[in-house]
Amino acid sequence: MSSAQTIRDLTATSDYDPNSMPVEKAREHIRAFLSPVTTIERLNIRAALGRVLAEDVISPLNVPQHDNSAMDGFAVRFADLKADGEATLKVIGTAFAGKPYQGTLGPGQAVRIMTGAVIPSGADSVVQQERAKVSGDQVSVMPLPKKGTNTRNAGEDLRAGEPALRRGQPVRPAEIGMMASLGIGEVAVYRKLRVAFFSTGDELVAVGKPLGPGQIYDSNRYTIYGLLTRLGCEVLDMGVIRDTPEDVERAFKEAAQAADVVITSGGVSVGEADYVKQILDRLGEVLFWKIAMKPGRPLAYGKVGDAHFFGLPGNPVAVMVTFYQFVRDALLHLQGQTVATPLPTQKVICTSPIKKAPGRTEFQRGILSRDASGQWSVRTTGDQGSGILSSMSQANCFIVLPTDQGNVPAGAAVDVQLLDSLI
Ligand code: AMP
Ligand code: MG
Repeated sequence: MSSAQTIRDLTATSDYDPNSMPVEKAREHIRAFLSPVTTIERLNIRAALGRVLAEDVISPLNVPQHDNSAMDGFAVRFADLKADGEATLKVIGTAFAGKPYQGTLGPGQAVRIMTGAVIPSGADSVVQQERAKVSGDQVSVMPLPKKGTNTRNAGEDLRAGEPALRRGQPVRPAEIGMMASLGIGEVAVYRKLRVAFFSTGDELVAVGKPLGPGQIYDSNRYTIYGLLTRLGCEVLDMGVIRDTPEDVERAFKEAAQAADVVITSGGVSVGEADYVKQILDRLGEVLFWKIAMKPGRPLAYGKVGDAHFFGLPGNPVAVMVTFYQFVRDALLHLQGQTVATPLPTQKVICTSPIKKAPGRTEFQRGILSRDASGQWSVRTTGDQGSGILSSMSQANCFIVLPTDQGNVPAGAAVDVQLLDSLI
């Protein structure tokens, strides 16, 4: 697929069927049109946590800087040891971590050494404490298998001048620790992704106001806020937008101007989609799909102005499922991340029987747990209605049932995606 291709051109490709879009195909189409942020800022390494590296981090030094001891014991010359018995050496000093022994080891000499201390000049190996016997200023040491035993070499972890971390790497606790270990206090990262979102629907009431007859509280803006915040996005909550063409158009224009990404929930299902579709046709290029999945069938994807757009279904569970399956991955990419971080997936025994018709991918809410014998298994949360948000709260994983899968008997192995690690 060439980069010059527009989103609308997609509809001309031979296998494009908006009414039965496989999950994998939808992911592929989305991925083809994403343009990651390019603005870079330099931050203190602590403030960089959760961002994405915008440059390779080159190690300014060898780690470790010097050959050093991996054990408490005695630094020796391997040539002084015996192959099959104790050798007796003269102890001439002590090397501490951070306080090296300054002299040079001559033949027949040893230096008491602590873990992490620099190997004194002249020495090449370390006999651990348990294999040495001290008497006065003499030490009897047992044989070592080879030269260099119990030592760590300079540059064994990282070499000066070589990349220690690559551009596109998410900055996690390990990365800020690594940069600190190199003496690096500041790093270039991509700016935060700005994401605007709003809900549509006249039945929706904002939290804090009383509910009228037939009205419901707008929960999607809260789950979306949570998902985006956990992903490290800068969020722009635009509230509930009334279901009128004027209000919806104004909201889309405002959101697209203010943000890199616009996310809406509701209003993309059949019947409602029509006027939204007309508005979006004017403002950008948006495709409306029926994904071959459950829940989360209606999904709109495209561009509104210069912003990337995801129109999620209205049902609260469908919002979360489509976010995890399509939006999460896209946002990570837009943030500049080049390391793939799919939701961790494992195969486990499912203890509940599941009814399923072939033809679509299902994402059932599951509870993964470990029994007394240490065996992991999963069960469903029960009722899988796409409006039952409590099922998402009980769940710690999705049970992913592939397209061709039919009914699942209790005791069968299924794939689960773990939800607790959003990044
Ligand atoms: P829609 O896609 O707009 O037809 O909405 C599908 C279902 O999701 C309807 O039952 C809506 O009431 C519900 N829904 C839509 N938006 C929200 C929201 N922001 N919070 C909670 N439920 C919603
Ligand atoms: Mg609606």
